[in-house]
Amino acid sequence: MRPESLFPLFSDINALPGIGPRLKTLVERVAGPRIVDLIWTLPTGLIDRRYSPKIADAASGKIATITVMIDSHEVPGTPKRPYRVICSDDSGSMTLAFFNARKAWLEAAYPIGQQRVVSGRVEEFQGRRQITHPDFVATPEEAESLRTVQPVYPLTEGLTQHAMKQAIDASLDRTVDLPEWVDQTLVSQRRWPSWRAALQLAHRPQGPSDLTSESLARSRLAYDELLATQLALLLVRERQRRIKGRSLAGSGELQQRILDSLPFSLTDGQRTALREINADMHAPTRMTRMLQGDVGSGKTVVALLAMATAAEVGGQAALMAPTELLAQQHFETIRRFAEVAGLRVELLTSRKRGSGRKALKAAIEGGDVSIIVGTHALFSEDVVFRDLALVIIDEQHRFGVQQRLALASKGDGVDTLTMTATPIPRTMMLAAYGDIETSKLIDKPVGRKPVDTRAMPMDRLYSVVASVKRRIANGSQVFWICPLINDSDALDLTAATKRHAWLQQEFGSKVALVHGKMKAVEKDAAMQRFINNDAAILVATTIVEVGVDVPNASIMIVEHAERFGLAQLHQLRGRIGRGTRKSFCFLLYDAPLGEMARARIDVLRKTSDGFEIADEDLRLREYGEVLGTQQSGMPAFKLARFPEHSDLLEIARSDARVALDRDPDLLSDRGEALRRLLYLFEREEGVRMILSG
Ligand code: ADP
Ligand code: MG
Repeated sequence: MRPESLFPLFSDINALPGIGPRLKTLVERVAGPRIVDLIWTLPTGLIDRRYSPKIADAASGKIATITVMIDSHEVPGTPKRPYRVICSDDSGSMTLAFFNARKAWLEAAYPIGQQRVVSGRVEEFQGRRQITHPDFVATPEEAESLRTVQPVYPLTEGLTQHAMKQAIDASLDRTVDLPEWVDQTLVSQRRWPSWRAALQLAHRPQGPSDLTSESLARSRLAYDELLATQLALLLVRERQRRIKGRSLAGSGELQQRILDSLPFSLTDGQRTALREINADMHAPTRMTRMLQGDVGSGKTVVALLAMATAAEVGGQAALMAPTELLAQQHFETIRRFAEVAGLRVELLTSRKRGSGRKALKAAIEGGDVSIIVGTHALFSEDVVFRDLALVIIDEQHRFGVQQRLALASKGDGVDTLTMTATPIPRTMMLAAYGDIETSKLIDKPVGRKPVDTRAMPMDRLYSVVASVKRRIANGSQVFWICPLINDSDALDLTAATKRHAWLQQEFGSKVALVHGKMKAVEKDAAMQRFINNDAAILVATTIVEVGVDVPNASIMIVEHAERFGLAQLHQLRGRIGRGTRKSFCFLLYDAPLGEMARARIDVLRKTSDGFEIADEDLRLREYGEVLGTQQSGMPAFKLARFPEHSDLLEIARSDARVALDRDPDLLSDRGEALRRLLYLFEREEGVRMILSG
């Protein structure tokens, strides 16, 4: 289905000349397995090799390309000292130094009595100019083509700039001119180069300004990606409108019964969200709504009430959670309240095996179960619903599109509600989801207390421990979070297990530990001890494990807070301040605190509004810090950057809409070009929507 003009781009990188199995592995690690992945891998820097001074004028610290005469070779007396090649021009003499060098190679590359051009960073060593390991050496004839500005690409161990550049250049050779898909007026207004020219420019930066997001080439490419995404989103949306949904209109009696049994009344936010969800479900179209709200803002209760409506009209509802623990907790909350309404709630995770699983599956298929809470196990093929009407997905970013669709396809015209506690900045929402209907829970349930947030250097650890001791004596419980180090599980483990052992010396068996490498049963056992207050302190490595509701926990300690993203810290802090006690969050940092880390911590001390924090997070990125897109779970953009390209996003949105209004099936010439764009950025789902009309 993919247009033929794009075939070469989607072939494997080992189709490129000079890419054998070894290089393939390395290049794949940096860019990806296909040629198209290589062309999207833009340089992160550049080296200007045009500076060609005489030896005497060569400024120390700069990259210079110098024409020299090779005078002599000095073989080191001991292997620790460098092999030295002495060379000169009419202004002076300099040294080329080589460690662990192969003599035969050096003699061939630097023949005495001949002229060579060397390029590398010039330094001053013992009063002489020196280049250690020149980046290249060439004859004067060869060198002309090298006296240029060279792009610098991200690398991995064993991969050289040279090899990476060759692979990229070979990939660019596979591109062909494609008909313009961007609106002509916009192209000329912005003076954008064509797609192919933009690619080539982006890969051949001539100066630092060419590396910025604002450069013509990079803006153009980012726009292409944004346009493809927005177009695909609109097509999917359009299609969803056309597929018949079903009207889930209950009498509201079950919802009312549950509401009456709740020990609290709904917040205004919950009430509004519920009204919006009820209206969506009532409508004959399919619901696709997102429910956004901080941890503890009461999303689960809203989910439960929506599920009651589905059940009331005889349908089934499934709630999918990303971890066993969260599924378990949702299950318990929901069962407590659903049973008063006479609804049967069951839990299905991969841990349920054998005859229990068989019986449960039979009950789901037979329609005896109204509400099914579970994990990934829910979309396994052998789980069949009698009449799935509503799917609720918690923390949807942890699931792939495929998984979500797989679950929704288990019913007819299924309504979906996704819930997220990750505060997502508005721009990112639009970029990734288009204008998906959103309900927000902004106000906190009453009784929620503001958390006293304090930042202090790590050397105050002992006073923190003393304070923990006092509060534990008063019956409080403590979350103790250890940091992620280098994304390495092994290292995380050490930090957490060490802290656990250290705290045990002080608090004995009152300390529990959970980390990602534990078996699920061990994890649950540890969590259960904390939930039951058999353990007063829970040492944890990741936020997933603490995605739980323990109102008695009133203290949160985060070690190396400077390594956590703003959104993450906010989520962590949301675990406390739920009970009757005053809550404290101690952010321990490694002094001195960088400007960026300080700004982040200040934001946390100032506000507890997740939406405000999300926007601040994005704003602070302008200072160079990268928002943990993966952690916040947003789909990755290859070329578009936020907030830098936010203005382009708005344009892409309206451009996509206008294009579709004019040509809904993308049949015109521009339509054709836009289809190709969808394929290029692998937004084929959009094309499929048109074809399946
Ligand atoms: P979320 O799923 O958004 O993290 P939950 O729905 O689990 O939040 O709610 C967190 C806690 O707050 C639960 O113990 C829940 O029973 C309680 N809760 C929910 N809504 C309210 C409310 N309106 N008033 C008081 N407590 C509430
Ligand atoms: Mg509906």
